[in-house]
Amino acid sequence: MRLSLFKRDLRTLITLLAIASIVITLATSLYASWRVQRQALIDTTLEANRVYATKLASTTELYFQQAQSQLAWSASHLADRLSDSALLTSEVTRLREQTHSFNSVLIVDARGWVKGVSPESLKLLGRQLRTEIAQQALTERKPLISQPAISAANNLVVFISWPIWSKEGEYQGYVGGTLYLRQKSILQQLLGAQYYRDGSSLMVSDSENRVLYHQQMKLVGQKRPPPIGNAAREQQQNGAQQVSSPPQLVGYAVVPTPGWTIYAIKPTEKTLAPLSGLLLNVLKHSLPVVLLTLIGAWLLARLIALPLWQLARNASQMDNTSVSTEIGRIRSWYFESAQIKRALLTGITLFQDKIGRLRVEVQTDPLTGLLNRRGLTAVLEYFLATRQSFAVLALDIDHFKRVNDTWGHEHGDAVIISVARLLQQQARQSDVVCRNGGEEFLMILPATDLGQGVQIANRLREAIGYSALPPVGQVSVSIGIAEWLPGGVSIEQTLREADAALYQAKRAGRDCAIAAGAPSH
Ligand code: GH3
Ligand code: MG
Ligand code: MG
Repeated sequence: MRLSLFKRDLRTLITLLAIASIVITLATSLYASWRVQRQALIDTTLEANRVYATKLASTTELYFQQAQSQLAWSASHLADRLSDSALLTSEVTRLREQTHSFNSVLIVDARGWVKGVSPESLKLLGRQLRTEIAQQALTERKPLISQPAISAANNLVVFISWPIWSKEGEYQGYVGGTLYLRQKSILQQLLGAQYYRDGSSLMVSDSENRVLYHQQMKLVGQKRPPPIGNAAREQQQNGAQQVSSPPQLVGYAVVPTPGWTIYAIKPTEKTLAPLSGLLLNVLKHSLPVVLLTLIGAWLLARLIALPLWQLARNASQMDNTSVSTEIGRIRSWYFESAQIKRALLTGITLFQDKIGRLRVEVQTDPLTGLLNRRGLTAVLEYFLATRQSFAVLALDIDHFKRVNDTWGHEHGDAVIISVARLLQQQARQSDVVCRNGGEEFLMILPATDLGQGVQIANRLREAIGYSALPPVGQVSVSIGIAEWLPGGVSIEQTLREADAALYQAKRAGRDCAIAAGAPSH
């Protein structure tokens, strides 16, 4: 199992490499574009929220300035005329209905008695106000914008008031207008235009973090921790911040006159919702290119691997004679494969030469150049395979020890060489001559029966016996003959029979030829 993993072929490896790099590249670029898009969405949303909060803050600021200047004008208009109830009635009605700046308008004298009110349905006319905000206006005697509070008519309101001073500088009371926080008011109209589209929301709180405006009405009037830290808000008039709990993107702006802060909020999750769609789009657009690249890589892998694969396959059969031609046909189209091909071809030539030479060396007797016993075995295998009958002659030089003793070993060798040459000269084309070791020889005579074998043996014996081999002179040989027929005894047995016949010839006085199975004397 482990081995097969390591033995993956080059083509698979290159293809895997290509796939891996493409997948990694794709994943990296997807991740990078995800990061970039994500940051872009966050930055854009933060900036949009900041701009939106700032815009609303400046509109709200404008409202307060106008509301205060209206009240200021009325205050100076009413100075020294608080006893004129018709004037007061027309003034409160005008203030409320002409501009729709206030939900209700009040004129209160220096002791807190209500002198004029619009709308009349509040039923406050002629009553003395004892609420905290009413008291605050009386005691402070200056322009005020109150904290959210419960009014005398039991509404949650913000109260904007302006003091009335007589021409002599005597405090005469104040004129004030309310904004209802939980009912339809100009504040709602200013802020409410673009609620919760795409999950965005707005929140307004005063300087003590009391909620003045929120999409959840029940939170209005309550103290809530601000969506961003107080520190950030106090440092700048407007800004934006990404906060983590809950994860949301907050733009904020301060309304200077009342000291309120407007928050434009969008949950981070909602902001990033389009991201997965964007990524899918990127993937969709890059997929065809990726697929084409993969196919290209696969084809290229094949092309690169093919010559090496063919070379490798042929390299495992270097002793095969046709391998050079096969390798020659391989198209090695790039440097490395061409070099390997060249090296293989050179190597194979050397290898086969060497093998050939080894074969010759292994099967040849170095002294005489005849086949040795091993070479003869190969020849006999061939006879056996082709069921070719033959006669075998076992031949031994007589009294060779004496030659050696008398003339020395080297002259002995010369005699062996001469006898070998004589045997070869006498042999037919198809006959096989073999040096069996020492001064013994074997001859295989194809398609020759025992009788013909004996004749040939005697002819050989005579040819050797008549030859003068200086300085030794004449030598004689003894020969044993046997015959092998397909389907008969084994070749080894036949060789043993020839050997036995040779032994018989020696015992019969040497210099003679005897067929196997002949009666001994
Ligand atoms: P016989 O007639 O019984 O064959 O007598 P022989 O002296 O030839 O006896 P045998 O065949 O037993 O001895 C062969 C001798 O040949 C023994 C060895 O010293 C010698 N001999 C064997 N091989 C070689 C060789 O390669 N060169 C030489 N010079 N002498 C060899
Ligand atoms: Mg011998
Ligand atoms: Mg001998």
